[in-house]
Amino acid sequence: MVFPVRSIADMTIQNILSAILPGNTDGTVRHDWTETDARALMDAPFNDLIHAAQTLHRQHFDANEVQVSTLLSIKTGGCPEDCAYCSQSAHNEADVGADKLMSLDAVRAAALRAKDAGATRFCMGAAWRGPKERDLDAVCDMIAEVKSLGMESCVTLGLLDDGQADRLKDAGLDYYNHNIDTSETFYEEIISTRSFADRLDTLARVRDAGINVCCGGIVGMGETRADRADMLQALATLPDHPKSVPLNMLVAVPGTPLADIDPLDPLELIRAIATARLMMPKSMVRLSAGRLEMDAATQALCFLAGANSIFYGDTLLTTGNPAQHTDKALFDKLGVRPMPAENHADAVTATE
Ligand code: SF4
Repeated sequence: MVFPVRSIADMTIQNILSAILPGNTDGTVRHDWTETDARALMDAPFNDLIHAAQTLHRQHFDANEVQVSTLLSIKTGGCPEDCAYCSQSAHNEADVGADKLMSLDAVRAAALRAKDAGATRFCMGAAWRGPKERDLDAVCDMIAEVKSLGMESCVTLGLLDDGQADRLKDAGLDYYNHNIDTSETFYEEIISTRSFADRLDTLARVRDAGINVCCGGIVGMGETRADRADMLQALATLPDHPKSVPLNMLVAVPGTPLADIDPLDPLELIRAIATARLMMPKSMVRLSAGRLEMDAATQALCFLAGANSIFYGDTLLTTGNPAQHTDKALFDKLGVRPMPAENHADAVTATE
């Protein structure tokens, strides 16, 4: 598609928004965002930003449907990577032990419980630098088991070597999660054991294998608003926009280097969600970690800004998540319905 404006740096906000909105009605999306564009959107007056994001959101999604995923840690703790936010890193001193890979029976039971609770996608996370071959065999069996229950499957296993994404695809994997975490500039403040480029290489392997990419990041780690914009620009200029874009609010876990960081104003997360919606209009934008610390009004604003996916269930890997009855009450209060699987599958196949 052709946007009427190539650079939005010098425009007024009204022109910026009117330049974006009509341009996304012809079924294609923009991949040539600049950091200047992203920062201009992120800096827009809040009401303009949210109005534009909600308007665009309604062009591609039912505004009252939210997709529900469940996340299970299949291998917890003892990770050799040094991600500063993570309770599972062996470099950090969080109170999380190192477990072995979960059994297939335990995974099946958890997936069944998630399905009964209304989840349409079952995500499995392992605290590895990347999977070893024998680990991959076991994870492939888990993927096949989840698929046999009629659910979408997603895994997050760290960096993938050549050929590993193809094996996951052959097992029936629908989504691979691998976050870029933050802007390329701020990245080295957070992780030293794997580079930003390593992450992009794994994303390319996933994409080349024909697996849907789930990729987002974390806000509230001490980065600037410009870093958050630059992270979104990096996501929105990938060869294909990620089908799912999880945006996490940092959960400051005791024993991690970020334990004592000042909490980010939730309005900044809402700005990031709205900017993600404008830049990647057909992607599912997931309001991920940090919901336990948010009140209903904050979450409602996140949905208004274009978030249309959440994790459902009491635990997110090792941190807390709202209880299921709390989320049900929130959905009821807002008149929000869980999105049927066929609706987000349609959204996925229609992307690009
Ligand atoms: S975020 Fe993932 S890769 Fe980083 S330390 Fe935690 S489990 Fe390991």
